[in-house]
Amino acid sequence: MKQSLPVLPYAFDAFEPYIDARTMEVHYTKHHQTYVDKLNAVLDKHHDLAAMPLEEIMMKLSKLHLSDADKTAIRNHGGGHLNHSLFWHIMSPQKDRDESLITEIKGTFGSLDEFTQLFTDKAATLFGSGWVWLVRNDKKKLEVYTLPNQDSPYLTDHTPIIGLDVWEHAYYLKYQNRRAEYVAAWWNVLKLLP
Ligand code: MN
Repeated sequence: MKQSLPVLPYAFDAFEPYIDARTMEVHYTKHHQTYVDKLNAVLDKHHDLAAMPLEEIMMKLSKLHLSDADKTAIRNHGGGHLNHSLFWHIMSPQKDRDESLITEIKGTFGSLDEFTQLFTDKAATLFGSGWVWLVRNDKKKLEVYTLPNQDSPYLTDHTPIIGLDVWEHAYYLKYQNRRAEYVAAWWNVLKLLP
């Protein structure tokens, strides 16, 4: 099926002053759109994949009968599409706390503060472009780690819950090289946690 940009349930300026409107607009209409377009260009060549959800394509990617070039394109652009779709979804101008997730985070990482610190440290030390993830791993446990580029946790059968985009395109217009300021501001628009 043809992939498309998800509709944003908020305006580009909804996250001011934490994330500026221009960054949101470029990020969504240019960067995310490009991942969608390049993913569709590959999927158009493989109609056998049309009925398969993108998450499932990711989980099975290494076993699919595709050229290495097409696998790489799906990994990059399919990952880019999935990652950004989740990113828009977990942010909101209004908090919408997920109490069961909060309880589980406390049980796994000790406290919300310890989780936030761990996640923030991962964001600070990730070299180059990539994402910080809170996932449910294949043993159903919560785990925090970084992945490079647009690699999706689904590639290793993990389910992403929270993802933070630390590519420079996510913050450069407002924060330039000050990634730590962007990360600190971003917690304010993550709707799941207080
Ligand atoms: Mn991005």
